[in-house]
Amino acid sequence: MVNNKLNTLLTRIRQAEIAYHRTPLSVQLLAVSKTKTANNIAQLYSAGQRHFGENYCQEALKKQQELGAYDITWHFIGPIQSNKTKLIANHFSWVHSVDSLKIAQRLSEQRPSYLPPLTICLQINISGEQSKSGITLDELPDLCEQVAELPNIKLRGVMAIPEPENSFEKQRQPFKTLYQTVQKLPTSILLDTYSFGMSGDLEAAIAEGATIVRIGTALFGAR
Ligand SMILES: *Cc1c(COP(=O)(O)O)cnc(C)c1O
Repeated sequence: MVNNKLNTLLTRIRQAEIAYHRTPLSVQLLAVSKTKTANNIAQLYSAGQRHFGENYCQEALKKQQELGAYDITWHFIGPIQSNKTKLIANHFSWVHSVDSLKIAQRLSEQRPSYLPPLTICLQINISGEQSKSGITLDELPDLCEQVAELPNIKLRGVMAIPEPENSFEKQRQPFKTLYQTVQKLPTSILLDTYSFGMSGDLEAAIAEGATIVRIGTALFGAR
């Protein structure tokens, strides 16, 4: 049952908060529902889950239509193509995967004026992998300054997907580096969101400051 999985996962998150001296309830669960059905989402919703993350625009829009009566906060977490920014700006509250000024500018321009500013995180390519999306740590300060100027965007934090590692200590390292880099940004840049951690590394992410963990497999089973 998906509800048992939700309870088990929330217990894991609360226990990690205690183990790593984090403020109780400071880590929010984002349920990653890509490839899962509207019905799967509805089941978690009835167990109390409100934040859902999707990677593919068309797939997400279809589920949003089916779930129109539900009070869900939708997060976009997948790679962003320029020709999808309008749909994203219109149909999501959060975007975790912004990795260029151009994409941020398009999202700001295309955000409808009747909606609140679009909340975003900048995606950082923390393991330096060629194939992964995301900016480098060196690019972060300037991009923060530039994005902060955009009228219909609210910059809240950073997102990272490190290379998979089995050892806990190796999992922690990239999160720690990114956390420390954000802490050293000029005080004019106020970031409070660390979108760190998936099913395989959520404890390491919480140990290093995650405020949102993005979990698919541990909630819904394998994709
Ligand atoms: C799929 C996905 C997740 C969830 O990963 P699991 O390992 O299934 O928990 C988290 N973040 C992003 C960006 C994803 O694409």
